[in-house]
Amino acid sequence: MTDRSPNGATVWARHSRLRVVPPVQPRKLAKVPFVELADGRLQGVVSSGSDIGRVYVSSIAAGTHDYNCSTNNNRPCGGLYGSPCKHLRALVAEAVVQYGADRVSRYLRVEVPEGADLADCLGGVHEPAPAAVVFSRFLRHLAYLEVPDTTLPIPELHWFPATGTVG
Ligand SMILES: [Zn+2]
Repeated sequence: MTDRSPNGATVWARHSRLRVVPPVQPRKLAKVPFVELADGRLQGVVSSGSDIGRVYVSSIAAGTHDYNCSTNNNRPCGGLYGSPCKHLRALVAEAVVQYGADRVSRYLRVEVPEGADLADCLGGVHEPAPAAVVFSRFLRHLAYLEVPDTTLPIPELHWFPATGTVG
């Protein structure tokens, strides 16, 4: 008799899954691992296109459409030259996939003419906002993720070691 269970970890992983709200369409989690409509904002976490270890926290306020994008350490995004950066555009695109265009435009209170891109219809300005709140919501969200059976690295888990320092 022995307590050793070579497959214990696998079994545990298989049984610990929880369902999250299924997206309207399948999402590309590696690019935008977290998106939500919460706190009067469309907000989320967007992977850096060039650096696997860096993420951006992007948000757009409902109503005013003022936007912000910074790293999770509150360093401003270099792409914000008077207009939303590619991370914000990726966030909007993924929100549409996750929630559907109608729900996103209703939440942000934006008029989107037929055939137009929602991201092009936002009229806000850059308004700095702390990233820590959004980032900690992202880290909490990770705890409820459904992790698929795969031997590949899971991009959403890459940032776990960085949870210790906020602010
Ligand atoms: Zn950005």
